Amino acid sequence: IDTKLPKVGTTIFSVMSQLAMEHKAVNLGQGFPDYEPPRALRDAVTRAMGEGCNQYAPGIGLASLREQIALKTERLYGRRVDPVSEVTVTSGATEALFSAIAAVVRAGDEVIVFDPAYDSYEPAIELQGARAVHIPLTVPAFSIDWQRVRDAVTPKTRMILINSPHNPSGATLSAGDLDELAAIVRDTDIVVLSDEVYEHIVYDGATHQSVLRHAELAERSIVVSSFGKTYHCTGWKVGYAVAAKALSAEFRKVHQYLTFCTFHPAQVAFAEFLASDPQHYLELPAFYQAKRDRFRELLKPSRLKLLDVPGGYFQLVDYSAIRDEDDVVFGEWLVKQGGVAGIPLSPFCDKPPGTRLLRLCFAKNDATLEAGAERLCKL
Ligand code: PMP
Ligand code: GLN
Repeated sequence: IDTKLPKVGTTIFSVMSQLAMEHKAVNLGQGFPDYEPPRALRDAVTRAMGEGCNQYAPGIGLASLREQIALKTERLYGRRVDPVSEVTVTSGATEALFSAIAAVVRAGDEVIVFDPAYDSYEPAIELQGARAVHIPLTVPAFSIDWQRVRDAVTPKTRMILINSPHNPSGATLSAGDLDELAAIVRDTDIVVLSDEVYEHIVYDGATHQSVLRHAELAERSIVVSSFGKTYHCTGWKVGYAVAAKALSAEFRKVHQYLTFCTFHPAQVAFAEFLASDPQHYLELPAFYQAKRDRFRELLKPSRLKLLDVPGGYFQLVDYSAIRDEDDVVFGEWLVKQGGVAGIPLSPFCDKPPGTRLLRLCFAKNDATLEAGAERLCKL
């Protein structure tokens, strides 16, 4: 068959979760919590199903949910967005990212991505007949070298895709970074796609620098988030995109034919939950910081070197003192011989990163973190 995506196989997340099951490993690979969403939220979904919210929702999302998203955006980032024309509910952030890329990027265009880059970006770009231009982040801080970005911009550059807090490193962009980006895209027609699914998970008192705080960038950006990360329900696949009216209109042209609408009962539940408990996401930094710190403490006796984690729910570890080998090889060895599943970084990079780093997810109960750490400390 004449494949459109010759470089694409099964995602590393599915591969590692499958291996973790086969080898009864502690699964610190694929990023999902092993605890439940808030009780009130689960009850609200059940109630919505019982009350007949089982047919198509409005294509752009339930009005009450879009209003809550707009309220949250104003409350957190000081930006007033119109829930009618600037907020669209999607089937997870993955759908929002795909719709945004398909709506904006044409055949022959270039899209700048930063490696390691979340694995859904490049296939979405390639399916448009466009090309991803990869710029490696600067290790070990995983920061952006803006001179490299300036050098990479060409008349074909149509989009720059950023992700903060960053998966897999947890690195966060500063207000200064956003100013650099704004200066680069000023007087061009480049659209910024900002993947902010970990927007509520930043540590040590830091503030998430959403593109929505930056008036100039916000005008030309599509900002994507995911309720899966925020409310511990990755399996519900509900996310959203915020963009200025004209961009949202283009975004919606794709969204309406990709999925048309998103799971109705969950939208009712999120709208209710956000209205009745607007605090939940404000408590996430403390909730995850406790997990991060506990996991790091548990790993202290190990031979792993721990990188800093400013945001997100992943810990990068340098395993070079244990085995000096490629990260995919090490990841396989670890799940089979060490009984712990993690995620290598190579699948998120165009060129082998040359690092000896593995990603471990700490969005887990204490018992899981303890079981994983116990095995890791034996290596
Ligand atoms: N972007 C990033 C950086 C992610 O880590 C993830 C998944 N965890 C997604 C997008 C996709 O989110 P969703 O599950 O809502 O589709
Ligand atoms: N985003 C999750 C991660 O980074 C996985 C999502 C998926 O499995 N597609 O682990």
